[in-house]
Amino acid sequence: MTTDHAHPTPRMYIAGEWCTGGTGRTAEVVNPATEEVIGHVPLATTADLDRAVDAAVAGFDTWRATPVAERTAILHRAADLLVARSAEVGRTMTREQGKPLAEASGEARRVAGALRWDADDARRAYGRVIPSAPDTLLTVRRQPIGPVAAFTPWNFPAGGPMRKIAGALSAGCSIVIKASEETPGTACELVRCFADAGVPAGVLNLVFGEPAEVSAHLIAHPATRLIAFTGSVPVGKLLASAAGARMKPALMELGGHAPVLVCADADPVTAARRSAAAKFANAGQVCTSPSRFLVHESLVDAFTEEFVRAAGRVVVGDGLDEGVTMGPLANERRLKAMETLTADAVARGAKILTGGGRLDRKGYFFPPTVLTDVPPDAELMTDEPFGPIAPVVPFADLDDALRTANALPYGLAAYGFTRSTATAEHLTRELEAGILSVNHCGGSVHEAPSGGVKSSGYGREGGPEGLDAYLVTKRVSHLLTD
Ligand code: NAD
Repeated sequence: MTTDHAHPTPRMYIAGEWCTGGTGRTAEVVNPATEEVIGHVPLATTADLDRAVDAAVAGFDTWRATPVAERTAILHRAADLLVARSAEVGRTMTREQGKPLAEASGEARRVAGALRWDADDARRAYGRVIPSAPDTLLTVRRQPIGPVAAFTPWNFPAGGPMRKIAGALSAGCSIVIKASEETPGTACELVRCFADAGVPAGVLNLVFGEPAEVSAHLIAHPATRLIAFTGSVPVGKLLASAAGARMKPALMELGGHAPVLVCADADPVTAARRSAAAKFANAGQVCTSPSRFLVHESLVDAFTEEFVRAAGRVVVGDGLDEGVTMGPLANERRLKAMETLTADAVARGAKILTGGGRLDRKGYFFPPTVLTDVPPDAELMTDEPFGPIAPVVPFADLDDALRTANALPYGLAAYGFTRSTATAEHLTRELEAGILSVNHCGGSVHEAPSGGVKSSGYGREGGPEGLDAYLVTKRVSHLLTD
C-alpha cells in the first residue's frame, strides 16, 4: 500500500503482498462530505479470491502451529501500532466515511482494546478433563475452526473488520476478509498494523470486489470453514442460506430497530439527553442506534422538548472541521433513504419538529430530525432507519409499549429508562433483544458479548463468548494402553 498526503491508495493484501486485482477493475471511493472521488479501490477476480483462500489455507497451518503466547504478543503489537497510528487512521476514516475526526480516531483506539481482549482471552480457551474410567483419559479440546471468510460494512470502517480479524486470529484461525469498498483505506491501514506487527504471510488476507460475487465465491469455496458477516438483514439471510446449503457455520451481526422505553417514573430530561447523544452518534448509522422512542404520555412533552434542544446542539459539517459533532451520511443511498422515510412519515400525518430535509450544500448532509405523530404503519417505525431520524411516540400502558417494542422481526438492542428496579427487571425479562441498556445508551464494551436475536442474527462478538464461533469443540476419549 502506498500513502499520499490526501488518502492511502487502497490495495488488496494477499499472501503477505499488497496488490491490485487481476483485471485492473476498480471502484471509486467518494468523500461523503464533498462528493469528491478520493481514490479507487481494486476489485478482485475469482483468481484473486482463490489465491487469497490458498494463502489462508497455508497461513492457517503456520498460525495454528505458532505458540499461543507468541500469537498473543504479535496481536498486542498490532494493537499498539493501531493506537500509535490512530490519528492518521482517523483522518483516513473521516475522509471516506464522514464521521467526525474525534469519533474516527476514537474508534481506532477503542478497537485496539477489542483486539487485546480477544488475544488475551484466547490464552484461556481451556478445554476440560472429564472424570472417566481409570484407563481412559477423557478430554474436551477447543481448536481453531480453520480459514474464515468475513464480510464487513462501511459504518465502522475500523471496528467492523477488527471484530472479525481479532476473533479469527486470536483463536488461531486465518481469514480472508472483504471489507467495504466504500471505506477501503481504513481497512488497509488496519491490516498494515497486523503486517507490521509480524503476522505471518497468508494468515490475514484483505480483498475488495463486487460484494455478491465475492461472497458467493468465498462461501462456496470448500476451504472456508466459517462465514462471518456484519450488515443488513436481507443480505445476512442470503449469506446464511448459502452457508447453510454447504453446512458451514455462520456468525451473523445484522441490523436492528432499537426501541427506547421511557417509563412513567423516569427523568425525561436525562433520558432525552442520553438518547439523543446515542441517536446522532455516527449520524445514526449504527446497528444498535436507538430508533423508536416510546415515551410515557405523562413525560412525552418534556422528553420531546429536551430531545429537540439536544438535536439543536449538534454541529453538522465536514468531520475534518474543528467543532463538528455529526458528519454527513456515509453515502448517497442513506441520504435518499432519509428523504424517503421522512416523506412517507409526513404523508401519513407525522409532524417535523426539527430537521427533515437535506442541507443545501455539497455532501450527503441530513440534519438531526425529530418527528412526532408518527403512525405505527409509517416505514420509519418498521424499517431500520440507519440515519439521524428520531420518531417520538407516546404510550399509556407499559405492556402495550413492550408489545410495540417486540412487534418487529428485529432483536438487536433495546433501551429502558426507569427509577424502579422492579420495572427494570420487567424490561429485562420481556424485551426481545440481545443487548439491553437501562438508564443509559452507552455502546459496547470488550468484556461483554454483543449480538442479536430474531432476524438480527446469531452468534456473539466480544466477551468470553466472542471466540466461540472461531473454535470447534472436540471430544477426545483416549484409552490408555500402558
Ligand atoms: P446493503 O444491504 O446493500 O449492504 C450492507 C453491507 O453488506 C455493505 O457493506 C455491502 O457491501 C455488503 N453486501 C451487500 N450485498 C452483499 C453480498 N451479496 N455479499 C456480501 N456482502 C454484501 O446496504 P447498504 O446500503 O450498504 O446499507 C444499508 C443497510 O444495511 C442499513 O439500512 C442497515 O440496515 C444495514 N447495515 C447494517 C450494518 C450493521 O452494522 N449491522 C452496517 C451497515 C449497514
